[in-house]
Amino acid sequence: MAAVETDRDAPSALCSEFLNFSAKDTAAKWLQVSNLPKEVYQHLACYVPKIYCLGPNLNPQNEDLLAPLLLQSPLEWYLCGEEPSVGLAKLEQNNQPSQLCGHVFKVGEPTYSCRECAADPTCVLCMQCFLGSVHKEHRYRMTTSGGGGFCDCGDTEAWKKGPYCQKHEPNISDSSQKDPLANLSDEMIARTYNVFSIILKYAVDMLTWEKEDELPEGLEPPARGDTYYCMLFNDEVHTYEQVIYTLQKAVNCTQKEAVSFATTVDRDGRKSVRFGDFQFCEQAKSVIVRNTSRQTKPLRVQVMHSSVVAHQCFALKALTWLGQIIRYSDALRRILCQVGLQRGPEGENSSLVDTLMLCDSKMWKGARNVYHQLFMSSLLMDTKYKKLFAIQFAKNYRRLQTDFMEDDHERVVSVTSLSVQLFTAPTVARMLITEENLMTTIIRTFMDHLRHRDLHGHFQFERYTAQQAFKFRRVQSLIGDLKYVLISRPTEWTDQLREKYLEGFSAFLELLKCMQGMDPVVRQVGQHIEMEPEWEAAFTLQMKLTHIISMMQEWCSSDERVLIEAYKKCLSALTHCHSGFTDGEQPITLSMCGHSVDTIRYCVSQEKVSIHLPLSRLLAGLHALLSKTEVAYRFPELLPLSELSPPMLIEHPLRCLVLCAQVHAGMWRRNGFSLVNQIYYYHNVKCRVEMFDKDLSMLQAGASMMDPNHFLMIMLSRFELYHIFSSADCRKRYNRENANKDVVQQNNTLIEEMLHLVIMIVGERYTAGVGQVECFDEIRREIVHQLCIRPMAHSELVKALPENENKETGMERVIDSVALFKKPGVTGKGLYKLRPESAKMFNLYFHHYSRADQSKAEEAQRKIKRQNGEDSVLPPPVLPRFCPLFASLVNILQCDVLLGILGAVLQWAMEPSGGHWSESMLQRVLHLIGMGLVEEQQHLLSSAEDNDTNFNFTLKISRPGEAPANTPSILALLETLQNAPHLEVHKDMIRWILKTVANIKTTRECTASAPPSDSSGHSQEETVRDKDKAERKRKAEMARLRREKIMAQMSEMQRHFINENKELFQQSLEELDPSTSSTLEHSPSSCDSTLFCVGPRRWRAGGSDRRQVVTCILCQEEQEIRIDGKAMVLAAFVQRSTVMSKNRKRPPHNPDKYDPLFMHPDLSFGTHTGSCGHIMHSHCWQRYFEAVQAKEQRRQQRLRVHTSYDVENGEFLCPLCECLSNTVIPLLPLTKTSCSSEQPDLSQWLNITSLQMKALLSAHRKAKAADADGVDDMDGVNDCPPPDGFKLDYTPKNPYSSTIKEMLTTFGTATYKVGLKVHPNEQDPRVPIMCWGSCAYTIQSIERLLVDEEKPLFGSLPCRQDDCLSSLTRFGSACWTVSSHATVQNHFIRLLAALVPDPRVENTPCILDIDMFHLLVSLVLSHPAVFSLDSSGLSADTAQLYFLHLVTVAHIVQILLSSVPEEVQMEQESGGAEREEEEKVCMFYNTLRTHLGSGLREVDSGWHLWCCVKAGILPYLRAAALFFHYLNGAPAPPELHTLGVGEWEALCGYLCLPSNLLQLFYNNRELMEPVLHGWCSHPGVLQGLQSSVALIRFPRESNHLIELPGDYSALINQASSFTCPKSGGDKSRAPTLCLVCGAMLCSQSYCCQSELEGVDVGACTAHTFACGAGVGIFLRVRESQVLFLAGKTKGCFYAPPYLDDYGETDQGLRRGNPLHLCQERYRKIQKLWRQHSITEEIGHAQEANQTLVGIDWQHL
Ligand SMILES: [Zn+2]
Ligand SMILES: [Zn+2]
Ligand SMILES: [Zn+2]
Ligand SMILES: [Zn+2]
Ligand SMILES: [Zn+2]
Ligand SMILES: [Zn+2]
Ligand SMILES: [Zn+2]
Repeated sequence: MAAVETDRDAPSALCSEFLNFSAKDTAAKWLQVSNLPKEVYQHLACYVPKIYCLGPNLNPQNEDLLAPLLLQSPLEWYLCGEEPSVGLAKLEQNNQPSQLCGHVFKVGEPTYSCRECAADPTCVLCMQCFLGSVHKEHRYRMTTSGGGGFCDCGDTEAWKKGPYCQKHEPNISDSSQKDPLANLSDEMIARTYNVFSIILKYAVDMLTWEKEDELPEGLEPPARGDTYYCMLFNDEVHTYEQVIYTLQKAVNCTQKEAVSFATTVDRDGRKSVRFGDFQFCEQAKSVIVRNTSRQTKPLRVQVMHSSVVAHQCFALKALTWLGQIIRYSDALRRILCQVGLQRGPEGENSSLVDTLMLCDSKMWKGARNVYHQLFMSSLLMDTKYKKLFAIQFAKNYRRLQTDFMEDDHERVVSVTSLSVQLFTAPTVARMLITEENLMTTIIRTFMDHLRHRDLHGHFQFERYTAQQAFKFRRVQSLIGDLKYVLISRPTEWTDQLREKYLEGFSAFLELLKCMQGMDPVVRQVGQHIEMEPEWEAAFTLQMKLTHIISMMQEWCSSDERVLIEAYKKCLSALTHCHSGFTDGEQPITLSMCGHSVDTIRYCVSQEKVSIHLPLSRLLAGLHALLSKTEVAYRFPELLPLSELSPPMLIEHPLRCLVLCAQVHAGMWRRNGFSLVNQIYYYHNVKCRVEMFDKDLSMLQAGASMMDPNHFLMIMLSRFELYHIFSSADCRKRYNRENANKDVVQQNNTLIEEMLHLVIMIVGERYTAGVGQVECFDEIRREIVHQLCIRPMAHSELVKALPENENKETGMERVIDSVALFKKPGVTGKGLYKLRPESAKMFNLYFHHYSRADQSKAEEAQRKIKRQNGEDSVLPPPVLPRFCPLFASLVNILQCDVLLGILGAVLQWAMEPSGGHWSESMLQRVLHLIGMGLVEEQQHLLSSAEDNDTNFNFTLKISRPGEAPANTPSILALLETLQNAPHLEVHKDMIRWILKTVANIKTTRECTASAPPSDSSGHSQEETVRDKDKAERKRKAEMARLRREKIMAQMSEMQRHFINENKELFQQSLEELDPSTSSTLEHSPSSCDSTLFCVGPRRWRAGGSDRRQVVTCILCQEEQEIRIDGKAMVLAAFVQRSTVMSKNRKRPPHNPDKYDPLFMHPDLSFGTHTGSCGHIMHSHCWQRYFEAVQAKEQRRQQRLRVHTSYDVENGEFLCPLCECLSNTVIPLLPLTKTSCSSEQPDLSQWLNITSLQMKALLSAHRKAKAADADGVDDMDGVNDCPPPDGFKLDYTPKNPYSSTIKEMLTTFGTATYKVGLKVHPNEQDPRVPIMCWGSCAYTIQSIERLLVDEEKPLFGSLPCRQDDCLSSLTRFGSACWTVSSHATVQNHFIRLLAALVPDPRVENTPCILDIDMFHLLVSLVLSHPAVFSLDSSGLSADTAQLYFLHLVTVAHIVQILLSSVPEEVQMEQESGGAEREEEEKVCMFYNTLRTHLGSGLREVDSGWHLWCCVKAGILPYLRAAALFFHYLNGAPAPPELHTLGVGEWEALCGYLCLPSNLLQLFYNNRELMEPVLHGWCSHPGVLQGLQSSVALIRFPRESNHLIELPGDYSALINQASSFTCPKSGGDKSRAPTLCLVCGAMLCSQSYCCQSELEGVDVGACTAHTFACGAGVGIFLRVRESQVLFLAGKTKGCFYAPPYLDDYGETDQGLRRGNPLHLCQERYRKIQKLWRQHSITEEIGHAQEANQTLVGIDWQHL
């Protein structure tokens, strides 16, 4: 950067001055002076600019050294009066620390809150305190901190129980509140006072300083140069990208630098982007301003003189220093508080603390954070000053909030966010209410900021601009503050508190008045509404206020006088609002069934109606409280009951409910979605408590004060149904109204809704105060009704229940009494199931059911009843009794108007057709009748007590109708309907009603006949009850007997049936048994007792076994697999893998140069092939793939949609199962081989082979030399004649058909391309190597998987893997035919040379560096290319066997060299059987030692060595057995189909090896000795043994995913201390854990992006390429979410292995229940990884959820 030139090399010039400086002397001098502030300022003026801001970097290293020395040290000397380290230590010793923990939370740190003991959810503990507290045994909530806020441990107000952890437990001896200043000397106090006031003032001056080029008085620097900073400030308007782009232009920096600038600006709030002379900086400023002023307001930039910036830097340091110093002593802290709050010369609100607060919005982020921190560690930690500070905060409240509205920073960096720390402390909050009238202040401030009103004074959100919406969001934080203030209810009231609370309540009523009737709607007729009106703002407000309204009521309920006053105020506010509710509306008179009432003419469908009625609803709530607290009965004279006008009270809530009904009936369709949404939220769990529920309460309150007939008539009129029921011939509706079908339909729905409303008004008694219920009855009933729909998970239930302000539903207290918990399996959630006995509470017309819920619940309940063999009728449940204030509501059931309505509907139902009544209408009528009967039964049961039996429903329904006269009675109608064929579904209910009526009649007759007398009243009732009970019991018993009899009959019949058809059953059982049928297939067809899979004596397929016929999934044609037939292919997916890697640090290979011929034993990168096992014709597949390609091209042209697969990379989905695939494997038949009788022994064979190799090698070199056109200078190689029968110039004929050849090339090229990450090139010599490697790697990984899953080697693989392995190996043995033969022969020569050292072959690795199984597979699969030249009668099988022998010996040597552990502590337990092996292995080991000398430790225990060999070589033998099994098709012996003993012998036998493997060496000793010598003399062996890098040990352990802690919060804690590795100590926003290697990464962030193959990728994607060859498994710690990544474009989220106690995961950590590791689920993820299914899983997830496809996974 250009600025560097002006950087002065200052420190050296000042060095001597700094060295001579003495803090002690300076402090001594200060003690003498009279004007200390002036002196200190001079000191600062002199030194601060010499230390700070000397170059472009604002905070160079030397500041950290110099500032403490030159600036802080003299202050500390002065303060202590002695060596600071000594003085401060003394202070600390004398200090009696307060019991507050006060730990300030870092972003992302875990916080804990006790759901049982916390005063409110903002009370939290840090992890340390939590673990030492009683709450860890309670029900707690865990969250991650957003930063800011501190631990409340020790705050007695914050906890109902257990306020202290073990560490902060106070000493009881001196718990009395002592003044901390008491044990400080007066001089010390005075000195501290001096220092603190000077330094705090200095800091405040500098941080609030606004001049760019000048300094406050006394701070002017001795010399000033022309050095400036161009300072860029943060705002929330411009995006990261805009800032980066602008900076690149303005200050000519690179993109990287610009990103770093932008990051710092975002973090600290400001950053110097240029340093130099004024001109230079001014220029940059103007470019930035010009570039960003076009659309929005420009970025804020200032050109500031370096000395100003220097002092500001030190001011921040000084505040931090203050924060540190006060930690030594509570006394110092108190002095600082005193200094801070001391009133300044300007009078009120002029203390330093006030100044800081009032300038908050002008400061940059970094400065705000520093001083907020200081406030938290000083003012908020001192109980005395916390209150004083709270008062100042409240005094400034209005101003601070107004500043915040204009501030463009988030709330977390605003001083207003401190409200949570102050207002949630109950004593502070109450003090602020009484002394500062805080409630009123908050509410008034809120009203001030919502200025838009309509003509009627309602809030108006209609023409909301973005600016206003932004403001509206900010204002909502005021509601949050109000909530904090109200969160804890007072237990004791003072007169002052009453007065101020009621004042606040009045202010709140003013607020509600502005909402009463806002956003009214008018029904749209004719045309559809043009523009959806704004509705969300009003509902947001309602939602935010819901808790406040509830809390207001709770406060009122805790004091009688407050409740009475509040009720009066609310009533008068409501009356005021609706004083003119009859205005312009005509009065009318309704009359029906001999009753009449006056009301007004009003139609919801024609006039304005509003959903927002908070005043009415608040009054409804208070009314219920009058009843609940019994104030209504104790002080009726104090209540304005006479002023109540019930019709006025019910009017608006009723309109609102009618609106819902009409919307339901489809009358408001043209009003669009905004109305539908409003109705939805009106009933939604988030709003209903203070909306729908309260409207219902209000109707109940109003109706309880009215004549039920009058009430119902008004209701009918509002429902616009009055005309139907009032007419004389209403029972003949079907005759009159058949004109308009739509209208009939509409009216039917309205009648249904109206009946439902009546059911609710009479039946909803679970609100305390309305019915006689306990506080948990309501929630219990909610839960029962949710679970009546279906069993539910804990979180589903929580979502369905309303939460209180503490985010508690109260569910835990009652759930176990009504439900049983069922634990989850490996997937799914834990579920609660309703206890059968709780089902009797079920009410089909439960008021919180939606129609869908209702029908689901009905169906579920009927089903359960039927399953239990009961009658499926669902009668109304027995209800609790009403409270006296609401008792008259039951009379609605027996009033004339309702009976008239019921009778009319029943009459209509006589007529089967016509559509003038509906099933649900009838169902509701029957339910109402049922309710009446249940009510009467209840009255009869309790009649003895109150002697008030004027509820006689049976009598009323037995009377004939009055108008028109002599119509049949309801009972008569029911009796008729009982037999109506069209009412089949309602029969059970009608039957139940008639039976109940009969029962009641009997009871009444009994009561009537027995003379009622006081003494016998009780027993009378009891006898009735007993009789009832006895009757029920008898019936139940009879039912049980009947059931048993039927069951017995049925089982008898069954037995009989089975006996008769015995044979049939036997047969079908056998067919079902899988073992009988499958053994046939697996058992060897030849009855030979020994089975060999390799060698000349190996098992050979007969003709019929070889014939294999398969079906193409695309064309459904059958096809035989033949060498010369049509190619059949298997959909396959090839991927790179590091699953078995033992060395994740190995850098990725250079794909162009890498020679993959020898696999290193660390298996660091492999190529895995998998398949879904679906078979197609090659031509069918090609056609399919071309179609996919074409479709994809069209799709991309239209719009860039991503898919879950990348066609350009050859990917496609299996047409049958949609499994992700990227190539196909051809299916090949078993090769035919014949066995010639006589085969050479190993040494002969090796002789012949080496002669062949010699000849081949020389021929190759010759050809190469000829190619290069050079002189033939390799004389030695020329004279190597080929042995007999070996034809060097022979080119074998390719036996395969052309389509098979094509497919061989296709799959080979795909493996090469994917495995090496290179462009396809079928000519590349590495193609066959990659194919052999993939074959070996895949077999090895499956061998591991079988071990890990504890499954036998054979017989347990699913078909698809079986097919995949067999085609993969057979392909491996055929792929040489499509490569250059010379190339393959050359590979073979090099491979063989590693086994049989050959001096002519160069660059052979030593045997420690070779994975032996890969070597074996490559040798076997490359051999045919050499073998094809041979016609001497050798057998390929012999060669395979000898390869196996040699590689096995080499592997034994490798194991003995690398894997013999040092300590031998094992008990020797061998019998005699293995003595021979032990002797031989000892001998062998000693031979090795003679070759390698001191490189190898001495080991005497042969038993021990043999154990090592056996354990180490087993995986290799198992893999070899799999390999030869699939290659040669030999069936495996039964011992290998099971787990357990005998595996070793069976394996050796199957592989044609002696079980004493050492015989392989000793039987051919002469031949093997030189070979062994050759291996050991390779320089690499000795190097490897002596190297510090540990050798790979055998057996290689299976890799695991990392260990995870049992408790999730341990992970959160770990992640919260993780800092971004690239931005110096910053917290990472999305810390993400690699589950493969345990690395923590800074994901999803600019800071840690890096470039990968030309694309910017996030830390996770970059990591996958190093750690997982492109595949990654991560845990996003903050989100509690598993992330799968594959390549740069694929990914998905996966359920984390952590569950809460309810068996549920918590993705996003929203619920905060404690989470614990579920091992089964974690093992499932591990299994996905080990079987290479991560990519497949992603594919399925993306296919199932298309939104996953659009995510930019590479940025994570
Ligand atoms: Zn703590
Ligand atoms: Zn603590
Ligand atoms: Zn607790
Ligand atoms: Zn086909
Ligand atoms: Zn498939
Ligand atoms: Zn980072
Ligand atoms: Zn990793």
